[in-house]
Order: sequence, then C-alpha cells, then structure tokens
Amino acid sequence: MKKISIVIPAHNEEGNIPLIYQRIKDIFSKIANYRFEIIFVNDGSRDNTQQILEQISQNNEDIKFIEFSRNFGHQHAVKAGMDYSTGNAMISMDADLQHPPELIPELIKKWEEGFDIVHTIRKYPKQISSFKRKTSKLYYRFLTRISDVNLSEGGGSDFRLMDASVVDVVRNMHESDIFLRGLSYWMGFKCVGIHFTACERATGESSYNLKKMMKFAFTGITAFSVKPLYLAAYLGFIFSAIATVGYGTYVIHSFLTGTEISGWASLIMTVVFFGGVQLIILGIMGIYLGKIFNQVKQRPNYIIRSKNF
Ligand code: UDP
Ligand code: MG
Repeated sequence: MKKISIVIPAHNEEGNIPLIYQRIKDIFSKIANYRFEIIFVNDGSRDNTQQILEQISQNNEDIKFIEFSRNFGHQHAVKAGMDYSTGNAMISMDADLQHPPELIPELIKKWEEGFDIVHTIRKYPKQISSFKRKTSKLYYRFLTRISDVNLSEGGGSDFRLMDASVVDVVRNMHESDIFLRGLSYWMGFKCVGIHFTACERATGESSYNLKKMMKFAFTGITAFSVKPLYLAAYLGFIFSAIATVGYGTYVIHSFLTGTEISGWASLIMTVVFFGGVQLIILGIMGIYLGKIFNQVKQRPNYIIRSKNF
C-alpha cells in the first residue's frame, strides 16, 4: 500500500487542526489503497496548537507533530515537514482549510499518471480582498519576468504534491531563505498544474500582514534573480547619457549667447535625486549581502523543541 505524507505548517491554528484532520481522514477513507500520515509542524504558535496536537496524536497513530522552538516561518515549517516525511509522495497544504482537502485525490491521480510534481494553480474567490488578489497577481507576473522561474499566474500556492524522489532533492537543500514556490519550478522534473479556487480561512486569522507579505515578496525575488543588482549599471548608463547630452547643450548655449544658466534649485534637486538613487542601489546590494551573511553563518534553519516520533 502506498503512503502519502501530508505536511501542514501551523502557526496559531488551534481551531483548525481537528477540522482539517477530520476532512483528510474522510477523504482517505473514500480512496482505498493509500495510507497516510499527517505531519503538523507547529511553527511557534502562541495559542493552544501544541496541546491540541499532543491530545489528538495520542489517539491517532497517523498524526505526527514537530514543535519548533520558536517561529521560524512558514517556508521552513514546510521544509521541516518534508525533511521528516516518509511517504511515497508528499502533499503540503495550509492548516486553515484554504486549500480544499477534496483536491487530494486529484493530486494523487496526476502523480499516478507519472508526474513528479503536481502544482496547484489558485484562484482567489470573490470574498478575498481585491487588494490581495491584485497584488498577488502582479507580484507573480513580475517575479516570472525578472527570474528564471516561470511562476504562472496563481502559481504562488504552497499546496502541491511531490514524489518522494523530489522531496529527497529538496531535503538536501539548505537555503537560509528558502522559497519553495520558486524552487519547485526551478528543479524541473515532470510537472503539471491543476486549478482550484481557494476557500476562506476556516477559523482564526491570517499570520501574514502587509509587512510579512512584503518581506516574503523580497525573499522570492532575491532568491531567484540577481537582476536587481544590474539596476545600478543600467541606471548609471542612462544618467551618464543624459548628463552628457545636458552638459553639451549647456556648453553650446553659453558659447552662442555668452550667458551662464543659473539655478541653485535645480542643482539641489539633482543632488538629492542622485543621493536617493544611490541609496536605493545600496539598499538592494545590502539585501543580497544580508542573504550571504545569513547563509555563511550556517545556522540551522529551524530548531525542534519536541516531536512525537
Ligand atoms: N504559517 C506558519 N508560520 C508562519 C505563518 C504562517 O507556519 O509564520 C502557516 C499557517 O498556519 C498556515 C499557512 O502557513 O497553515 C499559511 O498562512 P496564512 O493562512 O496565515 O497565510 P495566508 O493564507 O493568509 O496567505
Ligand atoms: Mg491562509
């Protein structure tokens, strides 16, 4: 009998854990021939997530849990679950039931057809704020344009199936700023995508505020592209060209008319403008430098406080 590992990161999800467990159990009782294990990764929750996991796993052998020593972030939580998964295939999904468990049989079907990675392509329902829908769409379009990965529209969801051989490849990656959405496209393999409409969060509230979303967005861009670093060179060329033309015009003008163009205001503006541009470029370089710094320290990407296996 083939075994499917389901990896679920959970950060303050006390209300959702019994719900998602029941839904997954129901699904697997309908599709015979598969065993399953669920690996919940408690990513530094401050509510009763841990107590609930300990309780529920006592009566159910198919539930494993990993408790982090603090919050290490959603991506590392998924990575930890993958590191410990033992199934023939692994499915990662959110704890809040935004990823409908009813899609699991379809994911497995595609896998049985021979695909190594089954992505899901998300459509947000109308209830989700249009701000989130629009920024998400724009972001993935931008990321696809400037990086080598092709994150098709709505490809940014961490609901996916990976064959055990692919999980093995990911297990051996130790990126301090891991961005699984990009990696799963970057690795290649035989991939296919299936469409789904995201649901509303069952209980609790989202852990992603605007600031966290921005940071996540930067992580994605800087993990898959060095193009922002070229910005300095491009801008340098453009502004040098403009300055050369401007200076030429000025020389000719004062030669022909015998007058000098005065204007300290325009001078100050130019200085401030270029100061700003230089700071932006320095900031971009700083982001990459920070990533190198974090990677070089080689600290573990997560620390486990307890687990039940
Ligand atoms: N999550 C996590 N660590 C975090 C933030 C989120 O493990 O620091 C989990 C969370 O419990 C959920 C999934 O990641 O299972 C997606 O998070 P959330 O629903 O808050 O994000 P959204 O769906 O609003 O983008
Ligand atoms: Mg969610």
